[in-house]
Amino acid sequence: MAKIIDGKLRAKEIRDSLKNEVLALKSKGINPKLSVVLVGDDPASHIYVSNKEKACAEVGIISDAHKLPANTKESDLMKLVDKLNKDKTVHGILVQLPMPDHIVEENVINSISPAKDVDGLSISNMGLLVKGEGDPLVPCTPQGVMDLIHSTGIEVKGKHAVVVGRSNLVGKPAAILLLKEHATVTQCHSRTIDLGFVTRQADILVAATGKPKMITADMIKPGAVVIDVGTVRMPTGLSGDVDFEKAKDVAGFITPVPGGVGPMTIAMLLKNTLKAASLR
Ligand code: NDP
Repeated sequence: MAKIIDGKLRAKEIRDSLKNEVLALKSKGINPKLSVVLVGDDPASHIYVSNKEKACAEVGIISDAHKLPANTKESDLMKLVDKLNKDKTVHGILVQLPMPDHIVEENVINSISPAKDVDGLSISNMGLLVKGEGDPLVPCTPQGVMDLIHSTGIEVKGKHAVVVGRSNLVGKPAAILLLKEHATVTQCHSRTIDLGFVTRQADILVAATGKPKMITADMIKPGAVVIDVGTVRMPTGLSGDVDFEKAKDVAGFITPVPGGVGPMTIAMLLKNTLKAASLR
């Protein structure tokens, strides 16, 4: 029977420790501030943004949300980002994804100053991460994944880590972070042949596909660490990529959905904002 990795508790521990960091920054005259930009009326995005504002308030980070209509032109959005880039009181900028279809997300993401790119998704921060250079801002969800893996106490070095999913948001940076810690990494995706054959070899399995319960118990190596990033709203509630109820009898450690990776993503956003504020 697997040990359940409590992401909610771990995220609270991180937020509590960040409160002290905020106080330390404030004592040096730095008031950390995150600006969140939201384009459109996607209800889920509005919930995510309000959760981010609440989390900022809890640890003492100032936040302001710029809510723009769905028909906002890309050029106007870029002008706002430029203004925030130049605003010395703003330490972190996040443009909530997804953006409406008429906006090229990459253009906007890459226009955020790398030093304020707290989502870590700009070409500059991702490039540094891939090359293993400097001290980039690292994407929040994969950073949360690594923290949860560390919380199990298992050593990553030398382990076979399998990441299912290759998005820029989660899968690719998660694989790079595992590689950086000397795991042997296999990256799977929708064209992987015989996924179960690969996942059964994983000492560490990270699932980030958004396909509910596609990782079944028979695809998991007994004793493995299983981190489920998937979050899909179903009529019955949130579902992860892993068939949790059966998988927990096989895995050594496993994250639930909800209460696993989700709360860690926001905690890492706060962490990145403080990193951006202190590096300035
Ligand atoms: P994307 O849709 O961008 O990427 C999904 C990835 O899964 C792709 O690489 C795709 O492969 C792969 N994939 C899809 N189907 C299969 C399959 N049958 N077998 C193997 N691989 C498959 O999603 P994201 O990476 O943005 O997000 C993944 C999940 O994580 C979603 O449920 C999302 O909601 C959740 N998420 C949760 C967060 C949190 O804080 N908890 C934060 C971010 C995301 P291919 O490239 O070949 O198409």
